[in-house]
Amino acid sequence: MPYTDHIFTDYRRRCAELEASTNPFAEGIAWVGDDYVPVSDAKIPLLDQGFLKSDLTYDVPAVWNGRFFRLDEHLDRLEASMRKLRLTSPIPRQEIRYRLVEMVSLSGIRDAYVMVIVTRGLRYLRQYAPEDCPNHCYLMVTPYLWVMGEDIQKAGGSAVIARSVRRVPPGAVDPRVKNLQWGDFTYAILEARDRGAMYPILTDGDGNLTEGSGFNVVLAKDGQLFTPRRGVLEGVTRKTVLTLAERLGYAWVIDEIPVQMAYDCDEIMFVTTAGGVMPITTLDGAPVGDGNVGPVTKALWKAYWDAHSDPEFSFPINYR
Ligand SMILES: *Cc1c(COP(=O)(O)O)cnc(C)c1O
Repeated sequence: MPYTDHIFTDYRRRCAELEASTNPFAEGIAWVGDDYVPVSDAKIPLLDQGFLKSDLTYDVPAVWNGRFFRLDEHLDRLEASMRKLRLTSPIPRQEIRYRLVEMVSLSGIRDAYVMVIVTRGLRYLRQYAPEDCPNHCYLMVTPYLWVMGEDIQKAGGSAVIARSVRRVPPGAVDPRVKNLQWGDFTYAILEARDRGAMYPILTDGDGNLTEGSGFNVVLAKDGQLFTPRRGVLEGVTRKTVLTLAERLGYAWVIDEIPVQMAYDCDEIMFVTTAGGVMPITTLDGAPVGDGNVGPVTKALWKAYWDAHSDPEFSFPINYR
């Protein structure tokens, strides 16, 4: 039995139930400042500086099997990002939290990808100071998204170390502020595809690893975990994985990680809310370790998904 079955069998059943649902929000629900609407009807105004200049921050918590996972950690990070960009949500944190839970409940979606976006708002900033611009908040709940699909998770995915582009430096765009300035990632994804792989890992241009397009990178070597300190978003998934690793007896290090280490390590994992712990078994066309999903990845994969039913990390949603 593949190591993933105990999670995916139940998940597939829930997906079939959602597919059969007649709930008008079953494919997703959005809030753009007024009534709730099906996500495919939601519209943003063209003048929003979030659209015109990517002047925004956002966060993505998830719901799994009817339980919100680490919602408060995601809202903490959102607030820190807003402070850094001097954005203020038009609705306070408690209302964001309340509405997200309400939206999941209204949609009936048991496994959800949830997005909160706070943008600068609807004025031309060449005429107005940023502080005179009322900021906007957009909320959206859709069925769970997988950065890596089920079949690929079983066998492991393929990645490249991007050569044609580096991660934008922290002195230009602070990567700890979750942002949608995806120029570097987009270019790196195109390069990965050109080189016959699925995912890119970006470097800092100085010989160290940073992260990939929406996920942190964790290496395992001799039973110890290594993950980059600088030039990365401080992921909630990574934090969770390191907490669980400690309980399983794996030591970990957050530090500068030389690119060479990715070629020398035993296992590579990509970690993100939209996909969990994702094994990478091919790097630059060569096998990672022995080319199979390794024991550390399997142990963390299981611990990570099991944590979703643990009240320490999640709380249940009352569906209507
Ligand atoms: C969201 C994101 C991650 C993963 O963060 P989580 O909190 O684990 O979902 C990693 N890198 C980037 C660039 C991201 O946008």
